[in-house]
Amino acid sequence: MKLTVMSRDKTQFIDITSEIQNKLQNQGIDSGLCFIFVPHTTAAITINENADPSVKSDMLNVLNKVIPWELDYEHLEGNSPAHVKSSIVGVSEVIAVENGKLALGTWQGVYFCEFDGPRTRHVNIKFIKD
Ligand code: ZN
Repeated sequence: MKLTVMSRDKTQFIDITSEIQNKLQNQGIDSGLCFIFVPHTTAAITINENADPSVKSDMLNVLNKVIPWELDYEHLEGNSPAHVKSSIVGVSEVIAVENGKLALGTWQGVYFCEFDGPRTRHVNIKFIKD
């Protein structure tokens, strides 16, 4: 199944935890796995704290400093830093499903990571029952 995500900024972390949880509820799966895949080359998926919003902005600040927009890139499309960030952060995650819920830690949330927005994006989700 697919989730549609609309980013508003050039780089942005968007919390999609509740959207994935809602899709899981409709499946009626009690125990299994949730596989999340981002089919884009300038976006990614990550799991991190979603309680304090400054964690999200700190992560973006670090990524934007370590992988600057201005550098001697060769890729003509002009979005090389977004490609680099996508590979470093990664395009997939697997989360256990327990008692019909994503078995995330207390402070964990799932973030869609936009690195070349704003755009309309997709996230592919597979639930596997065990
Ligand atoms: Zn490109």
